Amino acid sequence: MAMIEKLYEVIDQSRIKRNVSMSNLTTFKTGGNADMIIYPHTTDELKNVVKFFYEARLPYYVLGNGSNLLVSDDGIKKPIICIGREFSSIDVFDNCITARAGAFLSSIAKKAYDEALTGFEFAAGIPGTLGGALIMNAGAYGGEMKDVVEAVSFIDPSGEEYVVSGEEMEFSYRNSALSDTDCIITGATIKLEAGNKEEIAEKMADLAARRREKQPLEFPSAGSTFKRPEGYFAGALIEEAGLKGKTIGGAQVSTKHSGFIINTGNATTKDILELIDYVREKVYEKHSVLLQTEVKYWS
Ligand SMILES: Cc1cc2nc3c(=O)[nH]c(=O)nc-3n(C[C@H](O)[C@H](O)[C@H](O)COP(=O)(O)OP(=O)(O)OC[C@H]3O[C@@H](n4cnc5c(N)ncnc54)[C@H](O)[C@@H]3O)c2cc1C
Repeated sequence: MAMIEKLYEVIDQSRIKRNVSMSNLTTFKTGGNADMIIYPHTTDELKNVVKFFYEARLPYYVLGNGSNLLVSDDGIKKPIICIGREFSSIDVFDNCITARAGAFLSSIAKKAYDEALTGFEFAAGIPGTLGGALIMNAGAYGGEMKDVVEAVSFIDPSGEEYVVSGEEMEFSYRNSALSDTDCIITGATIKLEAGNKEEIAEKMADLAARRREKQPLEFPSAGSTFKRPEGYFAGALIEEAGLKGKTIGGAQVSTKHSGFIINTGNATTKDILELIDYVREKVYEKHSVLLQTEVKYWS
């Protein structure tokens, strides 16, 4: 029996899409087609799928909102499991918000505002899912997921489910104990504090204005292309290396914020990868600092 027919035995066919354009599913708006994307709606469906791939020894990718991804122009053969809209409930109990991993950070921030809970304002403008943010300890404007996470649930590649504390996640700068594993985050509990709705709204509006002023939000990108090297700012190093506005094909070092590589309209992933390599090389020549990408590359 073909692999796909066996897969249909563990998850309904309606949950699987074939030959899907990844440029529509990534904020960079580049990349070829994915052979197969699976959209589980429940933890049990997800467990069945993961167990299936584990037993078949087939590797997979996990997709959230595609806001930290660069996908090969040749597309993706590996199956992709999407933890997205179908997996995104948000519940509140006292000062805690429990959400499934596909919930958008902006939706969680809105819920926190509705419930007059403070502490999550920093995340309102990060265009990712809870799962995508937890796996890499997303952060902005002095806040990071590490500060607010009480517990995280995930399933391991054999389909077993675990719940760990925020501490056990070993969060560090853009990293966690689950980074670079095949574990899939299914949800988390976020602990906030009682606050004042007006102040929460004001803080979110201020951070949104700062983003609009400093970041090239009018162009497709994946946010900061590079991690912050210890003791430096990637954007400043890039600008000092004379690379502001440097363009390869449709990819450009943003003239608004040199830490962002943007798609000016017709970029391919190849253009973006070439520009990333060029920037790394020139920054190393000028500053002896080797930039590491924050964006994940899938091929
Ligand atoms: C305009 C813009 C601004 C941004 N600003 C910020 C910012 O201020 N701070 C910041 O930290 N980031 C920022 N980002 C980057 C991005 O939004 C974050 O990294 C976000 O956390 C990615 O979440 P996602 O759901 O889009 O993940 P995806 O891009 O879909 O995936 C990214 C990685 O996470 C993994 N992943 C996703 N979901 C799960 C899951 N449930 N379980 C296990 N692994 C999973 C994927 O396999 C992949 O390796 C910005 C991006 C853009 C486009």
